Amino acid sequence: HVCIVGSGPAGLYAAEKLLKLSAEAKIDVFDRLPSPFGLVRSGVAPDHQETKIVTNQFTRVLSSPRLAFFGNVCVGKDIELIELRKLYDVVVLAYGSESDNSLGIPGEDLYGVFSAREFVWWYNAHPDCANLDVDLCASDTAIILGQGNVAIDVARILLRRVEDLKSTDIAHHALRALNKSSIKKVYLIGRRGPAQISCTAKELREVLGLKGVNVVVRSSDLALSEIDVQEINASRIHKRVYELLNKAAMNGKHSLESYEKELHFVFYRQPTEFLPTEDGHRVSGLRLEKTVLEKELGSIRQRAVGTRVFENLSSSLILKSIGYKSLPLDNLSFDHRKGLIPNLNGRVLRVVSKDGDPECEPGLYVVGWLKRGPTGIIGTNLICAEEVTMSIIKDVESGILANDPSHEGREGVTVLLRERGVKFISFKDWEKINAFEIMEGAKKGKPREKLISVEEAVKVVGIS
Ligand code: NAP
Repeated sequence: HVCIVGSGPAGLYAAEKLLKLSAEAKIDVFDRLPSPFGLVRSGVAPDHQETKIVTNQFTRVLSSPRLAFFGNVCVGKDIELIELRKLYDVVVLAYGSESDNSLGIPGEDLYGVFSAREFVWWYNAHPDCANLDVDLCASDTAIILGQGNVAIDVARILLRRVEDLKSTDIAHHALRALNKSSIKKVYLIGRRGPAQISCTAKELREVLGLKGVNVVVRSSDLALSEIDVQEINASRIHKRVYELLNKAAMNGKHSLESYEKELHFVFYRQPTEFLPTEDGHRVSGLRLEKTVLEKELGSIRQRAVGTRVFENLSSSLILKSIGYKSLPLDNLSFDHRKGLIPNLNGRVLRVVSKDGDPECEPGLYVVGWLKRGPTGIIGTNLICAEEVTMSIIKDVESGILANDPSHEGREGVTVLLRERGVKFISFKDWEKINAFEIMEGAKKGKPREKLISVEEAVKVVGIS
């Protein structure tokens, strides 16, 4: 009896592998949302529909007769981890990173400052953020902190012509807001330089090529130190990204085209304060400190150091795209610095004293961003899932995971959830929701119109 907590790419790749590797494995996949697919549904940008094709593969996994989906079940609320561990031989935690890093600077909680995750969940119709009060009409400028691929996604959605989004699965409230948006300038702020930018070439090329958008990169920011050159030469991706920025700087300077919008890449600036409006109710801008780079001891990595030279940038929409964060569960050990559950090839480690040997929690595993931290693309989870499933199979073969008749698996969990009145969503129920969303989308020429609340989903399924 295997239980997987989380139905995103990591959880479903792990399920697929286990089904292939063990003819006896019976797998139950839990998700706190009524819908499966995690980040593919809530994270992947609506104008990247081709990336979502992987849901066909995941649907085949979910429709296996040896697998059951339990949507709308929140572990830690509807059922405790300790209960799952009593019901299943194997529990795999795959619930990802559903929180954000914070900057810890004044004004971070002002209205108008959001994390990129919240903004992404808003335009992707995630039930937690569908009602986020995003105002795209208060100024002509949006600031994005961070220069990773999430920041690039968010910039692209803000800058792309709305006509190009109409035929995607973007949430209808987001499409309406973007249609009325007054944002003409987007600033992407990096605390380090163009040699350290963390987005990848494909994503950068796409945003640089947006129709009607003038890209501004200051040539002075493109000067490289000797260590920068070493860094760039050590990574093909960084080299390509740097070349693209250089080309963009040249094109911007010589362009005679007229543009509707601007995208500014700003380097060597770190945020020090979110500035409030006079009434103190919302954000009006950002205080930035110029930085220089300093080599970290014993590493090729360079870090940004403040120079005490400050400047202000006005905006009433500031999105922090400085990395996702996983949340701890129960009293399991958790590495707060790296934002992951300490593990040995996916085996969850017990809290042990500093000099004690690492000890594993029997039958408990972790996969995906919760295992390795919030980096990597969807495909990275395939490799991660392979590693974890190999650990499980090895533990079964070595007798660490003996078949325990007291583990009731699916039967036991179903009784428990029914007793508690949890309105769980089965795979068949999800198929009804899926068909409904596709039908609603077709009326508007969209691949689907996502339901934005759990209540709506439960209603469509007809669970009372
Ligand atoms: P990321 O690539 O790690 O980028 C985080 C950004 O935040 C970096 O620019 C980082 O700068 C900056 N940052 C972190 N702490 C900061 C601080 N205290 N002050 C100022 N800046 C700070 O993460 P991400 O963009 O959230 O993406 C997560 C993962 O998902 C990545 O692996 C990404 O490739 C992947 N993803 C892929 C796609 C795609 O393939 N299309 C789309 C979205 C996401 P430093 O470099 O200076 O730390």
